[in-house]
Amino acid sequence: MTKPPGKILPLVAALLCGAVLAQAAHPNDQSATTSPPVVQAAAVTSRGPLGTPITRKQGAPSATKTTHAHKPEVKPPAKSVPEDDWNLAAHGKVLYLTFDDGPQGEWTPKVLQVLRKHKAHATFFVLGMQVQQFPELLAAERAAGHRTGNHTWDHPMLTHLTPARLHQEIYTGIESKCFRPPFRDTNARVAAVAASRHQRQILWDVDTNDWKKPGAASIEHAILAGARPGNIILMHDGGGNRAQTVAALDRALTTLDKQGWSYHSLPC
Ligand SMILES: [Zn+2]
Repeated sequence: MTKPPGKILPLVAALLCGAVLAQAAHPNDQSATTSPPVVQAAAVTSRGPLGTPITRKQGAPSATKTTHAHKPEVKPPAKSVPEDDWNLAAHGKVLYLTFDDGPQGEWTPKVLQVLRKHKAHATFFVLGMQVQQFPELLAAERAAGHRTGNHTWDHPMLTHLTPARLHQEIYTGIESKCFRPPFRDTNARVAAVAASRHQRQILWDVDTNDWKKPGAASIEHAILAGARPGNIILMHDGGGNRAQTVAALDRALTTLDKQGWSYHSLPC
């Protein structure tokens, strides 16, 4: 049922007029009077699924691929990851090195030195109490292009805490888009509190068990054996003597460099 062209124009004019009248009748409606539809759509797209307590394995496909088509192509720095791109296995021979429980005055600088030597970017899941003691090391991590995540204030077993204490532990950790529960001790309640702070729960694929000090060769072997595209590897730069971790990291990255691996920060 098509109308003759002559009747469409007056109809459109009437509709537009009605829209203007509707806006005029609601001068306090900010969304109608101040935000162009394009801006609103962009804001919805960039908000993403951060409110949902999910781990990497459950991550929803990123919406960025479609939206990038209309943006000028800016080539990212070699070791960076697109914002909110959690499709970690899609980037080829890339590993995600993570270091927990720092920053720590003696070992964090040594880990940073090894990462710099191998042109590696990593993610540091830091404790609030350690950041309070070594704020300059958190700044150094970020200045070197690494990303940082919340590992609570002082490393408790979160599922054992009262709701009030659980909230306090997660909310006194650092600002980040990522959160990692100490001891991998988590449940839906923990993940929900992290999500309420818009922090995505990040676990890991490969545990090097470096905190047990099993010897540098054992840690090195765990890193090498865990080298699969997109794998998140757990190590520590705090919580004790990390000499074995530093030695193993340097040796493992020397081997992995020759095999063509890169090391990116998580999009935290
Ligand atoms: Zn930890």
